[in-house]
Amino acid sequence: MTFQLKSIFSIPGESKEFEYEIDKNKLFQRTGIVFHSDVKVKGSIVNRAGVVKLCYHCDAAVDHVCDRCLCEFVREYGFDFEHILVTDTKCDDYVVCNDFELDLDELAVCDMLLEFPTKILCKEDCKGLCAKCGADLNKSPCSCVRDN
Ligand SMILES: [Zn+2]
Ligand SMILES: [Zn+2]
Repeated sequence: MTFQLKSIFSIPGESKEFEYEIDKNKLFQRTGIVFHSDVKVKGSIVNRAGVVKLCYHCDAAVDHVCDRCLCEFVREYGFDFEHILVTDTKCDDYVVCNDFELDLDELAVCDMLLEFPTKILCKEDCKGLCAKCGADLNKSPCSCVRDN
């Protein structure tokens, strides 16, 4: 969703609350990540004494494939993010809103991508597949002789 924030930037004390969903197909196109359902986004943008702050929460569920045993599973994530919004492009640490516009979908995608784990395991101690016979060692040990 794109927000027009001219009045929030102009008027101290002004605020806006929002709650919406980002379509999972749109997210897949942008990230290559298969979301299990639409991502719920909820938060607020507040101008407190001239400083415009965005706080929001994302609820996401992702269809993962375990890196070790290749099983498919769904994991739910809940993220909280905070940003200071500015209109001055010289501030690197802040989110810049050109023409007072904020593309929150784009920002949420960037924020979430930084939070997802790089290694996906169905569980911490996933035993994976046997390199020889391909059996899922989480279900039962196989009869292959181990080389080590
Ligand atoms: Zn696994
Ligand atoms: Zn085996």
